Amino acid sequence: MVGDSAVSRLYKDGIGAAYITAKACAVTALFLGVSARDFDKHYQPVLRRIARDNKIGWLVFVITGFYQKLRFLRRGMVHMVRQERGLDPSGRIMGKTLWNIFTGSASYRDILLQSMHPIFVMKLFTSTLKTILKPNRVGLNDHPREQKNLDRINP
Ligand SMILES: Cc1cc2nc3c(=O)[nH]c(=O)nc-3n(C[C@H](O)[C@H](O)[C@H](O)COP(=O)(O)OP(=O)(O)OC[C@H]3O[C@@H](n4cnc5c(N)ncnc54)[C@H](O)[C@@H]3O)c2cc1C
Repeated sequence: MVGDSAVSRLYKDGIGAAYITAKACAVTALFLGVSARDFDKHYQPVLRRIARDNKIGWLVFVITGFYQKLRFLRRGMVHMVRQERGLDPSGRIMGKTLWNIFTGSASYRDILLQSMHPIFVMKLFTSTLKTILKPNRVGLNDHPREQKNLDRINP
């Protein structure tokens, strides 16, 4: 099997996954051989890699589920994004991570590793702590529209 009938990326990029599996299938058949052993050796690992990444993707979505449900986590994340606004694109680690989760531009493995980086964890932790201890100082309460949007996502 090839394309999304073989395997596809969890919630993302069906066309990209179909391209990767189709290419691996074609390369195997044209350059390496058409026996079951050839496909087992050269094609199967590509499918397995995508399937393995989907398991990590499942974990990533469990974690994002907590952020959607728990207001204090969500506010810490929003505060971190806001603090990154003045930075170089390379310094916007939360923005980049969110972008990758929403668009599927990176593998779930890379997304998880990115979000486990000590700098990321420390920044998120301090942002969350600030929003808990000094909600007025961080300014999240000053923006009724933003607050309304956050409340609408999860009252
Ligand atoms: C509504 C919708 C929106 C989507 N949006 C996106 C998106 O924005 N981005 C993205 O990356 N992915 C998206 N996807 C997923 C993406 O379309 C698929 O993952 C991708 O097209 C899979 O490619 P494929 O070649 O494996 O299969 P397909 O594109 O389904 O191609 C299979 C082909 O085989 C033909 N076929 C089936 N049975 C036979 C047969 N017995 N004999 C001969 N021919 C046969 C079919 O007619 C079809 O043309 C979307 C899917 C849907 C349903």
